[in-house]
Amino acid sequence: YGDFNAKVDYVFKIVLIGDSAVGKSQLLSRFAKNEFSLDSKATIGVEFQTKTLVLDKKTVKAQIWDTAGQERYRSVTSAYYRGAVGAMVVYDITKRQSFDHIPGWLDELRAHADKNIVIMLIGNKSDLGSLRAVPTEDPQELAEKEKLCFMETSALEATNVETAFLTVLTEIYKIIG
Ligand code: GDP
Ligand code: MG
Repeated sequence: YGDFNAKVDYVFKIVLIGDSAVGKSQLLSRFAKNEFSLDSKATIGVEFQTKTLVLDKKTVKAQIWDTAGQERYRSVTSAYYRGAVGAMVVYDITKRQSFDHIPGWLDELRAHADKNIVIMLIGNKSDLGSLRAVPTEDPQELAEKEKLCFMETSALEATNVETAFLTVLTEIYKIIG
């Protein structure tokens, strides 16, 4: 083996889940490459992207998994969740249904993922405030009940995207590091 990985202290697998079109792929693209596309087809088929950062003097490689559209058919497989230590469960603040489906996604996580997985609830598309269909009280209440972190983000405007991923990575580091 080469030593190209010698400086990585930890690899943390994080999965993105939630309904189709809530912005999962664009959140990943914004975090990993600081890119955003209105044409989401560009990222279909990508398994995961990585971003290496330093936390508490340790080099952490975040390996962030994105679905290739399987969520449309509710066929995200258990292999997707295997080894995940973090999850971003995403809804669209302008689509009430995408929030109403969050408990189903949490059930799915609990069925397939490690019980200590760090979960962040994300309300994406905060730039579309005038079309808001999910008041923040609802996710706040759910987050409190389910003991999750909650944040609203905009992949388009790059609002809170870095903060959301860093919060999850820091929580994971506290548990594993
Ligand atoms: P996915 O199916 O959950 O992966 O969703 P995508 O990342 O493919 O995004 C679905 C659509 O929403 C695309 O047209 C994106 O450009 C758009 N989108 C994603 N994030 C945002 C955001 O933060 N704000 C707005 N206004 N549109 C977004
Ligand atoms: Mg996608």
